[in-house]
Amino acid sequence: MNAIHPQMHLHKVELKPKDYKTDTPSFWCAGCGHYGVLTGLLRSLSEIGVDPNHLVSVSGIGCSSRLPYFVNSYKMHTLHGRAGPVATGVQLARPDLSVVVTGGDGDGFSIGGGHMPHMARKNVNMIYILMDNHVYGLTKGQCSPTSRQVMKTTTTPYGGLEEPLDPIMYMLTYGATYVGQSFAGNVKLASQLIKEGMEHKGFAFVNLLSQCPSFNDIDTAQAFKEACDQVPDSHDTSDLSAAISAVNAAKKAGRIPTGLLYKTERPTLDERMAELVERVGGGKDYDLKKIIDLARP
Ligand code: SF4
Ligand code: MG
Repeated sequence: MNAIHPQMHLHKVELKPKDYKTDTPSFWCAGCGHYGVLTGLLRSLSEIGVDPNHLVSVSGIGCSSRLPYFVNSYKMHTLHGRAGPVATGVQLARPDLSVVVTGGDGDGFSIGGGHMPHMARKNVNMIYILMDNHVYGLTKGQCSPTSRQVMKTTTTPYGGLEEPLDPIMYMLTYGATYVGQSFAGNVKLASQLIKEGMEHKGFAFVNLLSQCPSFNDIDTAQAFKEACDQVPDSHDTSDLSAAISAVNAAKKAGRIPTGLLYKTERPTLDERMAELVERVGGGKDYDLKKIIDLARP
């Protein structure tokens, strides 16, 4: 069975980044880091030459989950935390399309946290862009799973009691096949990671650190920028242990590792499904009894 890779099927188009932008007025605050994510995504789409007719943007709920409104594509603004499963269904039904999921830290890792490991381990062929501002923005400043303990929020007025979750470490350990991180304001690196992640065959996870000037006054654009250290060119992106060590070392030093941390190849869920359908004679010759017999030990 040949590998199914959306970008290889696509009829490429020549469009400028602005051609991928809709006329929908922005509802993000001035200075929000999400503008950087949008700019990076539009630039990546243009560089790849993605046909908007073959592009599906999927999101959950939150300020970041409004991003699909601004992208010239098919789009699904789904339920809180459920962008991943919806996007998985879209990708399996139409493996010829490019599927982009965008969402926030609360949407992805709290409400939708149960879905994250499964997209990674199944190696769903799509990109998940986390717009991580360490706070719930849309609902006005509650503590999120990535909030740092020193941050005082409306729900943690004396600071947090819990260790923040590290989305990068989470994805590395659950088997994502492409893992990268950048400050959203570093549009060059962010768009490079998005582009490569979209071209990657398998589950690509890109964490973009995005300031929320309205409700997080410690993780400012300047603070993110100053804390980021790009992994050196010598970093072996095929070595999972090296990626985990790099993240651990950066953490201990109070730094944020950025760049492409890990990349590997293994069959995607849609490939495995296509192989199964072929093996059991799917399509019009679908035979349930044969499938049950095959499944028996
Ligand atoms: Fe951006 Fe925060 Fe405003 Fe939401 S509340 S649009 S995350 S700055
Ligand atoms: Mg958030």
